[in-house]
Amino acid sequence: MVSSEYEGRIAGRFATFDQDGNGYIDRADFCAAAKAVLAEFGVPARSDKGQALYAGAEAFWQGMAGIADRDGDQRITREEFVNGAVKRLRDNPDRFAEIARPFLHAALAVADSDGDGRATVADTARVLTALGATGEAARTAAAALDSDADGKVGEAEVVPAFARYFTVPG
Ligand code: CA
Ligand code: CA
Ligand code: CA
Repeated sequence: MVSSEYEGRIAGRFATFDQDGNGYIDRADFCAAAKAVLAEFGVPARSDKGQALYAGAEAFWQGMAGIADRDGDQRITREEFVNGAVKRLRDNPDRFAEIARPFLHAALAVADSDGDGRATVADTARVLTALGATGEAARTAAAALDSDADGKVGEAEVVPAFARYFTVPG
């Protein structure tokens, strides 16, 4: 069962992907996301972490396009997102997690200041802010991502949470 409230919420998620706000999701949005995160942490695009983030963004885009770009024009419209991506991802959230994982892994590495592969809640909030969340919402979301409340956000916390955010009402 898909409620209209659910569809509406997912339509709102579209704006998160449409980083440049031009009404469709394409590769440029994923590049913009990577660029914004690198800029926030002062990490050069040519560094290993920078290259990993761009590679993750490209893989994320390719995965989303494979699922949602039904007419193959290298753009995901709002209709393609809601009618294609959402239904398929809802049926298989694990698939979405795998598509997003390389990008999320690389973003955590960029935000990771001590090399343990995890980012502090504060640094995670900086990532979310770079991706367009407002300050307070970013802090709240970052704290929620720290599901074991140890003050840091790791891949095992962020990947399933990210998949839930885009595939489950709430
Ligand atoms: Ca766009
Ligand atoms: Ca399309
Ligand atoms: Ca944690």
